[in-house]
Parts: sequence; structure tokens; C-alpha cells
Amino acid sequence: MRIVTIPCRSDNYAYLLVCEETQEAAVVDPSEAGPVLAAIEAEGVRVTAIWNTHHHFDHVGGNDAIAKKFSGCAIVAHESDKGRVPGQTVFAKDGDAVAVGKEVRATVIFNPGHTLGAISFLLESPAAVFTGDTLFAAGCGRTFEGTAEQMHSSLVRLTSLAPETQVYCGHEYTASNLVFAAVVEPSNKAVTERAAKTSALREQGQSTMGFTIADELATNVFVRCAEPEVVASAQREGGTGSSEVDVFGALRSWKDRF
Ligand code: FE
Ligand code: ZN
Repeated sequence: MRIVTIPCRSDNYAYLLVCEETQEAAVVDPSEAGPVLAAIEAEGVRVTAIWNTHHHFDHVGGNDAIAKKFSGCAIVAHESDKGRVPGQTVFAKDGDAVAVGKEVRATVIFNPGHTLGAISFLLESPAAVFTGDTLFAAGCGRTFEGTAEQMHSSLVRLTSLAPETQVYCGHEYTASNLVFAAVVEPSNKAVTERAAKTSALREQGQSTMGFTIADELATNVFVRCAEPEVVASAQREGGTGSSEVDVFGALRSWKDRF
């Protein structure tokens, strides 16, 4: 199988997961129809499923137009997103298996926090996870609907996947997330190195997607809430308490106003 990254809107990504044997494909988070339909045509694939990580418009905006072109196209989202995802036909829950063609097989991971129905799709082979607005490269989504506790445990769960697992998220926020990380954890050299790699990629017009869980463990302050330097920074910025969830909550609200 192959993964095609499709830039959408100003900083969104949709993805095409192609079964090379059958030329069938799943679309992850079609933000808008235009660029996704162009990629479908360029790849010469038939879409049999849309997988939505959550109900926000910039992740489902292309659902209707794409489903209209491919009759019988399944639209998968969490069961609790019923009524919020255009055209939804599959009401998934944690642990459910989803598949397209012969090669594209994934498991649903329920990771509430950004929204209450947020899910990720964990591909079997290659090991890759599509995290929407839950886990970003060196960051995470805002806790719009869930609590700090929910978001933190969702992030801990995602970063407990095998370290070599590739991550594909919903937005190209990597560079600005690393600016924040460098302020929170100034002595972390992995942050500096990743920032340099990121600007080299961005200068060439390339996406930073396909990073790894290992990268996150090394540089994502939102899952490094037990590191003394992270704890100290969070407390300096008004955080109270030193549990990992307390530190996470302080970092999240700091980042919201950063
Ligand atoms: Fe979102
Ligand atoms: Zn989004």
C-alpha cells in the first residue's frame, strides 16, 4: 500500500491510503473536496471509504462531494459523532477494525480530548497512525470538548505505540510547535535538532508528516510532563500542582495564549 499526503486549505492534510493490488483507496479527513478529488484522479484510484478523525469542518468538509462521486462509499467516524459528521455510515468504537481493498487495514483508537468523539486510525502495515487534531508533531490539539485529563491520557496512549510507528496528523503546525517546545524545554537538544530538520523540509516545500512516535517522546512537551525542566516551566507560567495532568493542563493553556 502507499500513503499520499494531500495539502488542503491553509495548513490541513488529508491522506489517501491506496491498496496497490486493487487500486481502491481510503481518504482520511478530506478537509475540502478540490485537492482530494485531484489526488484521487492523479492516483487513478476508486474510493471505497472515508475515515474521519473527528467532526470539525476542516476534517469533513469534502465528505459529501467525494461520497457523491463514489457510490457506496463508507464514511467512518466515532459512534458519538453521530449527527455531526456529514454522510456518516459507520459508527465506530475503540478497537474496531476497518479495511479497504486487501492491503489497507487499520484499528480505531478512541482518543477523546480535542473533541469528545476524536479517534485515530492505526494502520497495520506499514505501522502508521493518523491522529487528526489529537497528536500533532511536537504538539497536540486544543482541548475544545474534553478535559485535560482525557487529552493527556489520549496522548499517553498514542505515544505508547511502537516507537517506529509513523505519525500523520491533521495540520502542518510542526515549526510553531517546536518554537513553543524550545521555550518550555530550552536544554532539550532534540528539540533544536528537530526544528532545524523541520525548517529544511519546509523551505523545500515538503511536509513534515511521517514523523515517528520516537520523535514525539523526545520532543513533545505535552507527553514530557514529568521532565523537571517542563514541570518548572509550567509552574513559572502559573501552573499549580505537579502531577502530569496538572503540568499538561498548565502547558495547554500557556500554549493557547502563546
Ligand atoms: Fe479539529
Ligand atoms: Zn483541524
